Amino acid sequence: MENMTFSVVGRSSTTAARLGRFSLGSKCIETPSLVIATTRGCVPHLTPDTFARTVQPKDFLGIVCSTEYLLEDQSIIPKTCPHSLAKLLGYGESVPVILAIDDVTYCHNGEPNMTNGLDWVSILNTGGVSQYKVKEDTERFLKHLAPDAIIAPTDHYNPKIARLKRIRKSTDTTNAYKAVLLETVKQNSMVVPSLMLHSENGETEEKQHFVSGEMQKRMDSLKAKLISVMGLESMDTIKSMSASSQKAVCDSALLVRGVRDAKEVVKIVSAGGDFVDSKFATDAATKGLALNIAETGETVTISLDEECHFEDFTVLDEACECIACSGPDKTTKSYLHHLVKSSEMLAYVYLSSHNIWQLCSLLKKLRKSLDPTNE
Ligand SMILES: [Zn+2]
Repeated sequence: MENMTFSVVGRSSTTAARLGRFSLGSKCIETPSLVIATTRGCVPHLTPDTFARTVQPKDFLGIVCSTEYLLEDQSIIPKTCPHSLAKLLGYGESVPVILAIDDVTYCHNGEPNMTNGLDWVSILNTGGVSQYKVKEDTERFLKHLAPDAIIAPTDHYNPKIARLKRIRKSTDTTNAYKAVLLETVKQNSMVVPSLMLHSENGETEEKQHFVSGEMQKRMDSLKAKLISVMGLESMDTIKSMSASSQKAVCDSALLVRGVRDAKEVVKIVSAGGDFVDSKFATDAATKGLALNIAETGETVTISLDEECHFEDFTVLDEACECIACSGPDKTTKSYLHHLVKSSEMLAYVYLSSHNIWQLCSLLKKLRKSLDPTNE
C-alpha cells in the first residue's frame, strides 16, 4: 500500500471537481484521468503500438483487466508464466495493470447476483458463471500475473429492493472478501490500491454504519476506491458519486467504472470523480461510430455506416491527433465508411484510436480548467 499516494492539488470553486496527483509505483499522473478498459486482455481493437500512438503515458493510469476473461480462458495465465500481466498483454512494464476481480456479476439478467458465498464470488462470463475462489485465485493471480493493483470483489445487491437486513448481509460478505484479500496481499507483499465500495443512491452512507472500526481503519488507509456505476440511471450515478465523494474520509482517488458517455464524464468529474474508464469509447468504435467530443462533453456522433459519407473526403476532426485524423494518410470519412461497410478490422482500429484520443483530450481540458496556475 506504500506504493500508492494521492493528493489533491486544486479544487473547483463551483463544483466538487478536483485536480489531483496520483502515483502507483514509479508512475505518477495528474487526475482527473483515464484508466483504460481491456477486453480479453487487450485494449479493444488496438495493438500496443497503435495504443501508444494514441495515448501519451502521462495521460492514463494503467489498464484494467477483468478476471472474468482470465477465468474463462485459463491459457492466458499459464501455470508457470514467468511474465507480469503487463508484459503478457504486450504493454511493457511501464504500464500499470489493475486487476479487477469484480466485474460483471451485477448484470446477471439485469439483477444482482445473489449467489456469492463467503469463500467465492460468482463471475459471469461468456461461457456462463465461473466461481472465483477469493483466497486461492487471488494468490494464483498475484503470483502469476503480478498486477500493480487489485480491485476487490464485492457482494452486490439490488438497491431498489434490498432491505437493511440484505444490505447488512451483503456488506458483511464484502468485508469478508476485503479481509481475505488484504491478508493474501500482505502475505505476498503486494500493493492493494482499491477496495471497491459499490455505491448506489447514497447507500455508501448506510454501508459505512456497518463497517467495523478495524475495517474502517484499513479502508481509510487505502488511497483509491472504486465506484461502479454500471447499470445505474444517470441521476443515480451522480447521487452515488456525490455521496461517495462527500463520504471519503481521507483524500482517496475515486475510480469510476461503467461510464456511458462524455457528458457523464463531465458530470462525474464535477461530482469529485478522479478516474473514468474508456469502455464506452471503444464500444462506440465497435458499432462504427466516431465520437467528436467538445469540452462540455457534448458529443457529435458520426455513424460511418451511413451512405452520406461515401464521398466525404474530410477527416473526422481536423484538431484530432489520433492515428486516423493525423496519421500520414489522413484517413477520410469516405475511406472509413468503406472500411466499416466491408467490416474491415482497420475501421475499428482507427475508430478506437479516434474515440480514445477524444476522451483523453476531454480529460486534459478538464484538468487544465482545474489548474490554479492556469489563468
Ligand atoms: Zn481522430
